[in-house]
This record gives sequence, structure tokens and C-alpha cells, in this order.
Amino acid sequence: MQKQTLQNTDVHGKRVIVRVDFNVPMSNGKISDDNRIRAALPTIQHLRDNGARVILCSHFGRPNGIVEETSRLGPIAEGLGKVLGTPVIYAQECIGPIANSAVAALSPGEVLLLENVRFHPGEEQNEPAFAKALASLADLYVNDAFGTAHRAHASTAGITNYLPAVSGFLMQRELEMLSSVLDNPRRPLAAVMGGAKVSDKIAVLENLLGKIDKLIIGGGMVATFIKAMGAPVGDSLLEVERVSFAQEVITRCTHWTVELVLPQDVVVARDFSPDAPSQVVNAMEIPDGWRIMDIGPESAASFIEELETCKSVLWNGPMGVFEFPAFSHGTRLIGQTLAAMTDAVTIVGGGSTAEAVADLGLVDKMTHVSTGGGASLEFFEGKELPGIAALMDK
Ligand code: ADP
Ligand code: MG
Repeated sequence: MQKQTLQNTDVHGKRVIVRVDFNVPMSNGKISDDNRIRAALPTIQHLRDNGARVILCSHFGRPNGIVEETSRLGPIAEGLGKVLGTPVIYAQECIGPIANSAVAALSPGEVLLLENVRFHPGEEQNEPAFAKALASLADLYVNDAFGTAHRAHASTAGITNYLPAVSGFLMQRELEMLSSVLDNPRRPLAAVMGGAKVSDKIAVLENLLGKIDKLIIGGGMVATFIKAMGAPVGDSLLEVERVSFAQEVITRCTHWTVELVLPQDVVVARDFSPDAPSQVVNAMEIPDGWRIMDIGPESAASFIEELETCKSVLWNGPMGVFEFPAFSHGTRLIGQTLAAMTDAVTIVGGGSTAEAVADLGLVDKMTHVSTGGGASLEFFEGKELPGIAALMDK
């Protein structure tokens, strides 16, 4: 990795400000899924074990630059304390006198969580004054919030103008894992792409086509590919203005000898609802008044066969409307197949795809499931993420 990491950084006695992503799902003021908190533990523990004063900062929700009572981080400080097995101090401000005195009172090994950085408009505007105020709390900056690395905000980018900046362990693992399939993959390398829309995935497809050996396509975007091949799509989600891009993908796969695998059969439904009447039809013969909701059983079988010969797989995008149990089979079968490919590198990116894998209880069976939804997509697009670019080079 090209960026400096926490591994080789002296933190003893230092005040270390860590940008974490504690934007956890909450219901009724309680944390409903603490995976993001757990993901930050290696960095926090390392800092505590090495005598650092740990200052954590995060965003939560979308308070848009004003104090929103429901977006305070108090409950998260409490949740983190439970997971850490030690109390976490909570400061009801992230800059200014309250934050300053909380930091001044910190002993080595203690953990402080600052208030939601997005209570200040300067955060998302990457305002130098706000970045400087945050930086003034610490001697060293660690970015462990991969999920926010695609945003140039004060706590992800601006702050690095005032402090030495290194990546935390979660950030490091994300970069190593996601780069491993893009830069130097074990081959054959397949990309399984799905999700709702082609337009969301154009840049990803553009970047991946030159790197992969197989492209397997499912999800709602199949309709646009079917249209590109001149067949009817019924009421399926069709992006008329993307048909020519789909055609281009088909042509490029031929020229660049990327094996393109499209569904032979699809599950179609009468309408977009969980218990809509449905049937399996040939993908080239979608009847009027029906829409694609999932890949069909023959498609799943051929996708599985294609995947099982691969040494690396990158998966982004559910195969169907997995939120409805009746249309979740394709996504489940692909998830289970990747989970069983213990000799292959299996990387999952994208918010919904990660959610689907979590629902299936398969997170631990994959080589890596990215914690960064939008950030992982931008990484697959080959973009330089501002939060990573801002860290010190090795
Ligand atoms: P990710 O967040 O992993 O990148 P996307 O946001 O691209 O994934 O797509 C996820 C969404 O795609 C899911 O909400 C799923 O219901 C939807 N989807 C998958 N297949 C279809 C389909 N055939 N028709 C409509 N929506 C679909
Ligand atoms: Mg998404």
C-alpha cells in the first residue's frame, strides 16, 4: 500500500484523533447493528494498548450543519463502551471549549467520542477553519472511515493539512482487499454485476472491463442488455438512454475476450410487490405486462458453473429484488456459491450487496465484504478517493 499506516507510527502518549464511521443503523434510540463499531475496534485497541489518548470523531445521519437532537452520538458512545468493555467519554461538542477540556482531561489509554461532526456546516463544506479547529485537538490524525473516504470533508480531507495523517487498520484492510482484485488478481477473475440500474454502474463497468475475464450480469439492469440484443422487456425497468452503452459492453467483451454471461431465464412478476403473481420465462421472451424481478433457475445454475472455475470474484449488485423473499433466490444462490468457494478470493462491494450478504449470514465466509457502500463503488470505478489521497505517502 502507498499510504502510511498506523502500524509503523509512534502513538505513545500522543493525542490521536481518529475519523471513524459510526453511522450505524438505529431504531428507537438503540443501535440495531453494531458492525461498524466492531469494525473500528482493531484501531481503537491498538491505540489504547500503545498508550495513546484516543479521540474519535464521526458523522451520523444527515443533520445538514445544524444540531439535531436525534443525531447526537451519546447512544453510540454508550454502545462503543459496551463493546470495548470500558467507559467511553462523550463530549457534546466536536470543537471549541467543551471538546478542548474533554481532550485535556484524557489519560493515555482513555477513549473520547466527540459529537457529530455534521452538526457544523464546515464539515461537509471542508472549511479550513473547522478542519483546523478539529486538528487542534490532536497530535496525529488516523482515518479509519473507509465508508466516507469518497467525500472531501473537513474530517476526512481538510484536517490532513494540519496534522500528520495515516490510515487505520480498517481503512488499510479495505484498500488491500479491494486493490487485490483490481491490481493483481488470481485468475480467472469474474465480476458479478447486478442492482437496479445500468446508469449507476457505467463507470464501474468501464473500469472493470479491461481487468476481468468474465462478466456475469443479473439484477434489474439485465433489461437494458436484453433490449440491446433486440428482445422485448415487458414492463421491466428499462433505461432507454443506456441501451447503446449496453451494446458497447457486449461488443467490447467480444473484442477483449471477456466472457459475457447474461441470464437465459428470468423470474418476472405482474407488478413490483412482494406477493405479485410471478413466473419463470426465457429472458428473450418477456411477455407484455410483466417485469424482471430475479434471475431464473437456469441462469443461476449457469452463473454458479461459471463462478466455480474462477480464482477471484468481485460482486456488486443483487441479482434480484432481494428485499422481497419471493425474488431473493438468485441473490441467495450467488451468495452461497461465493461463500463456498474457499479457494477463491471473494470480494463484495456496494451497500445493498453487503446488506444482502449480511442478511444471509455469509459475511464471515467471504474474503472481504466492504464496509463502504458508495466508497467501494467509487474505488471499483478506479477513482482516487479524497480521504485516501490526503493521507501521507509511504
Ligand atoms: P449496491 O448498493 O450493492 O451497489 P444497487 O444499489 O446497485 O446495489 O442495487 C440494489 C437494488 O437493486 C436493490 O434494492 C434491489 O432491489 C434492486 N434490484 C435488483 N434487481 C432488480 C430488478 N430486477 N428490478 C428492480 N430492482 C432490482
Ligand atoms: Mg446502492
